[in-house]
This record gives sequence, structure tokens and C-alpha cells, in this order.
Amino acid sequence: MRYVSTRGEAASLGFADVLLTGLAPDGGLFVPETWPELAPLDELRGLSYPELAVEVMWPFVEAPDVGSTGEPEITREDFSRMVHDSYTDFDSPAICPVRPLGDLWLLELFHGPTLAFKDVALQLVGRLFDHVLTARGSSVTILGATSGDTGSAAMDAFSGLSRAQCVILFPDGRTSDIQRRQMTTIAAPNCHAVAVDGTFDDCQDLVKAAFGDEEFRTEVGLSAVNSINWGRVMAQVVYYVSAHLEVSPEGTEVDFCVPTGNFGNVLAGWVAKRMGLPIRRLVVASNRNDILTRTINDGDMSTNEVVPTTSPSMDIQVSSNFERLLFEVLGRDGSAVSAMLGEFRGDGSVTVPSEILDRIRADFDAGRLSDDGAADVIERMHEDHGVLLDPHSAVGVGVAERILARTPDGATPMVCLATAHPAKFPDAVFAASGVRPTLPAKLGDLLELPEHFDHVPDDLDRVEELVRRVLAVRD
Ligand SMILES: *Cc1c(COP(=O)(O)O)cnc(C)c1O
Repeated sequence: MRYVSTRGEAASLGFADVLLTGLAPDGGLFVPETWPELAPLDELRGLSYPELAVEVMWPFVEAPDVGSTGEPEITREDFSRMVHDSYTDFDSPAICPVRPLGDLWLLELFHGPTLAFKDVALQLVGRLFDHVLTARGSSVTILGATSGDTGSAAMDAFSGLSRAQCVILFPDGRTSDIQRRQMTTIAAPNCHAVAVDGTFDDCQDLVKAAFGDEEFRTEVGLSAVNSINWGRVMAQVVYYVSAHLEVSPEGTEVDFCVPTGNFGNVLAGWVAKRMGLPIRRLVVASNRNDILTRTINDGDMSTNEVVPTTSPSMDIQVSSNFERLLFEVLGRDGSAVSAMLGEFRGDGSVTVPSEILDRIRADFDAGRLSDDGAADVIERMHEDHGVLLDPHSAVGVGVAERILARTPDGATPMVCLATAHPAKFPDAVFAASGVRPTLPAKLGDLLELPEHFDHVPDDLDRVEELVRRVLAVRD
């Protein structure tokens, strides 16, 4: 498989290079040159989750180009071993189990080590990085910004790897205590949590500025594992297939509803559909930061101020992965993507032409839910079904309910993605339901472990200085 950039100006690359590079040099995102076809569903039934994962992902990884030894950098055997290892730390044998929830289905993606769906992809991405870096005899510095969940999932996945230093910036005082402790209590010497005096946007701007500093970027070998990394999207395709096999034994159409921020998770659903999985519609669920809902429903792609909500991992106004969908609906025309996103960056708004919007709406529907609406869903689902939802998952469930009420249809199963464990957001869940969710036993000592982190002002020089110090200690 080769990968091309959504802006059309960068040279095509193989999987291993795309994995390590993240963003394409022309500013675009990498997408596969062609979409592989999924094997017939009947052939996939009965496979374990890791076996299914290898089947679904291998066409994206397989490389025609060979390294200096004449062996591919990643053989199918290597890949299969890494996939199996990635899911040994999940506390459900199904890895991503599906369970009925009233008229809906809930796809639980929070059984990994840090209790959010990011583990499903990052556990594999960490192992792939280690494998490729070892084969190449090189090393990287991962620099990332987090509003909470990506940071802990990345640090868990990269902890202990000798060829990657992992530096994660988080906004001081703006994550939940659980989220902060999941980063600051990791003892691995290659993982560094850094509190920044500022907001999540400030952290993200610092990361972008560091990547923009060409000299620094090469000096420390910067690399990224944020949600634009293709490896993450690829790994998320798998649970759409596993859930489909579970809820539709006949292999007929299924709907999915996905609580969305950066559009990475729901894009993976679109890829599954593109590969031939019978999905009727993908419902994008937003909180009050609803640029995606306005874009899909009205063609109004315009940014507003980010407002803090009880579902902070969806408090985003520029959804980077939407670019991958635009590339497809614009007929894979990189210059059209550049023009449209150039206008968006310049004016903060762009109107999606109606024929393009029709193409998007052929696959997507969208809805939004306020914090009060999400709290009501948490309370109701607890009362009616004894299930505690986290606020992100509750946004998805609430939007799915409304869409079903608008277009009643008893025949097509609706699968709602549950993206975090309720114990990750205990205060919001308690406020809504009167129940304080308990941390799974595997995190039992989280509240007692000592915390280690650095603290920097919102200043690029100080961040770069800190990264250099981290590397000097390693050497
Ligand atoms: C990251 C995250 C989301 C948003 O996922 P995207 O891929 O950015 O759309 C939703 N819920 C939770 C709990 C998350 O951590």
C-alpha cells in the first residue's frame, strides 16, 4: 500500500514512513492510494478480535518496497504478533464488547489500560513505532498536546520503549484529577508529563510551533501520535467490523453513532463502509462545540469560540480528520482541498457547495446535545438499564435516540460508541446520576502513587529547552 497526501503535493510513501511522519510535508494528511476490499463477512465470523484485526488491517500495512536486508520492514508475522500483544492488557476477552441498551447497542471501547477508546489504536501504534525504529536503528521524540485522554493513552503505549522519548503537554489545572494522575504517575524514564500555564489550545499551539521550528524538529527527531496519524485511524476500523458481525448475523445494514471531536473515530467508520462493510449511516454526535453538526446539516463550516463542556475531549472547533473526508468527496483533488481549507483558515468559515454536501450526507447524519441533555441521558440510562455512561458516550446515545425518534426504523440496528469509562469523569457522572463510579481495580492505586511532572510557562523556548534536557539525560 502507498499513501498520498490530501493536498496532492507530497511524494507518496509506504506505511512505515507514513506512521513515523504523521503530517505530510505539504501540510496534508496521508490517505491510502486505493481502498482495500473487506473479505466476505462470513469468512470473518468466528475470528478472535486480534485475528480479525490482522485480517482487516494487513492490506494497509503490506509494503511492496523492501528494506536493505531484502525483508519487508513489517512482515505479516511481525504485524500479527504486535496486534496480539496490543490487546493483552484489555480487561474484556471480547476487547471491544457490544451490549444491548434499550433499543440501541453500546460498543464499549474503554476496556484498555487508560479507560478511553484511544488505547485501542495507541497500544498498537506504540508497538509499530518500536518495531520500525528498531529495524532502522533510529529514535524519535514524540511531542503531543492533550486535553486528557490522548496523553495518558500515548504514555501508557510508549512507556518503557528505548527508542522513543514521549513528552506530553497538558493544560495545568484543566484536566480531571484522574486524567492528570494517569500521566504523572507513570514511572517510565522515557515518559514526561508537562503542565503548561495555559489552555489546551495553548498546548496545541506550542506543539505546532515546535514542529514549525525546522532546526529543532530535525535536531530532536520530532514525531507525532495525535489523531491525524494514519495508524490510529486504521486500528479503529476494526471495531466497526467486530460490532457489525455481532449485531447483524445476517450481514445487513447497521447504523453507528459516534461522539466526535477531531473526526478520527467516525472517519474510521467511513473507511469501514468504503471497504464494503454494510453501514447505512454514520451519525456524528457533537456537544455544544458543534461545527461538524452545522457543516453536515447546513453546509455551514464556521468556527466559533471553544466552550468548555462536561465532555472535554470533544471541545474542538477545527476537526483535523475532516480533511480526509473532504479529499474523497472532492474527487481526490488535492488542489480543491487546499483551496477550500485555505479559505476556511483565512476567514474562519467556508460554505460547503450543495453537490459536495449531498455526497457527505449520503453517508453521514449529525446532531448535537447540550451538557444538560447529556446529564439527562446519564440519569435515564442508569435508572432504566443500570448502565453508567460517561459524558462523551452520553452525547452519542442522546443524539442516536433523537435520530431514531425522527426516523423510526425497527429493522436497522443502531450501535452507539462508548468512548470512555465513566470513572474517568466521576464528577460529571455523579452530578447527573447521584452515583460515583468506581475505578477499575487495575487503577486502584492511582490516587496514592507519587506524581512526577515538569511545569513550564506558555513559552516555546522553555518547551524546547525542556525537550533538550530530557534527551541529554537519556544520552
Ligand atoms: C478523543 C475522544 C473523543 C473524540 O474522538 P475523535 O476521534 O477526536 O472524534 C470522544 N470521546 C472521548 C472519551 C475521547 O477521549
